Amino acid sequence: MRMHYFFLILTVLFCFGFVAIAEPRKSSGLQLLLSFSGAFLLALTIFDLFPEVYSDSEPKSIGIFIILGFLLQIVLELFSKGAEHGHVHLDFESTTFPWMLFISLCIHSFMEGIPLIDSSPIFYGILIHKVPIAIILSMFLLNSKLKTSYAVGFILVFSLMTPLGSLLSSQLEFINQYRPQITAIVIGILLHISTVILFESSKEHVFNIRKLGVIFLGFIVAYFI
Ligand SMILES: [Zn+2]
Ligand SMILES: [Zn+2]
Repeated sequence: MRMHYFFLILTVLFCFGFVAIAEPRKSSGLQLLLSFSGAFLLALTIFDLFPEVYSDSEPKSIGIFIILGFLLQIVLELFSKGAEHGHVHLDFESTTFPWMLFISLCIHSFMEGIPLIDSSPIFYGILIHKVPIAIILSMFLLNSKLKTSYAVGFILVFSLMTPLGSLLSSQLEFINQYRPQITAIVIGILLHISTVILFESSKEHVFNIRKLGVIFLGFIVAYFI
């Protein structure tokens, strides 16, 4: 499991480094990656997390926790303005550290780490999800008027949150005791972000065969992983 923490941290830092060096622009490739990650994460949530929480709990009470997670993500996005699903609507001219974005993203990422206690398929869903998010976030941080040290600090702490959630979930008795309920909350969060990614990636409802292709691919890969 230690290796998993390492992968999660490195992936985010690598994306930041990539943006700092290559200075990519918002491209259709990035949009496709976002669509793939959304489909992949949605399918893994359905294939991997749903059976786990429903197997040994009362379905209706689990459903309530899923809805709570969904609502929690709605509240978090009031502060993050959608950075979890690849949107940054913040002021590029601001020089003050974006605390609201930072805290809500950290809570989101921490929660995401909780189901990752072993090398289950959902780990890959979260890992792939991190790639477009880290790239888009890094593009914002590096193109804004923020000090570079703020940008680096932001990404560094952000990269640690999911491993921290995972680590604490394996250590804390409280989380172990309420694992199905807490995992259900995470399911709600993941359902929200993955469906918003898919929904927003087809803005004008124009038919895009490549987008449909990567979404389909995301579902297929999730099935076989
Ligand atoms: Zn959005
Ligand atoms: Zn996330």
